[in-house]
Amino acid sequence: MLDTLKTIFLAIPKGLSVTFKYLLTKPITVQYPDQKLILSDRYRGLHYLKRNEDGTEKCVCCGLCAAACPSECIYMEPAENEFGERYAKIYEINELRCIFCGYCQEACPKEAIFLSKEYEFSIDKREKLIYTKEDLLKKGQRSTD
Ligand code: SF4
Ligand code: SF4
Repeated sequence: MLDTLKTIFLAIPKGLSVTFKYLLTKPITVQYPDQKLILSDRYRGLHYLKRNEDGTEKCVCCGLCAAACPSECIYMEPAENEFGERYAKIYEINELRCIFCGYCQEACPKEAIFLSKEYEFSIDKREKLIYTKEDLLKKGQRSTD
């Protein structure tokens, strides 16, 4: 009986006071997708690869990003071009496994791999989130991050 009275006279008015307080403040709900999210400067989204100013690929396939990756979602195979320079013949990131920690970006000595602010990547097939080197370089051309 005492518990019931406590609920009626203390807990319910306390709960209602919180409700009324928020009735008078501006809503904080984001009307997504009509309204876009304001992201933190430190937000990490999908990856992209960068090129040098002369158009060559920055990545030299050293493997440091893959070694730093806790999710083991980066796969690469090296090759050499006609000048004996090393490059990534295959470079793939499985974004399905990625936890967006950013270690790959931090580990890269060539400033080749970056995480963008792109967070809208719903797809109809899982394979579409395994990005190839060409996908990542294309994203690098478009990226303004
Ligand atoms: S962000 Fe983290 S988990 Fe994702 S590829 Fe880079 S190192 Fe791996
Ligand atoms: S992205 Fe950077 S760390 Fe990764 S293989 Fe290429 S050069 Fe090395």
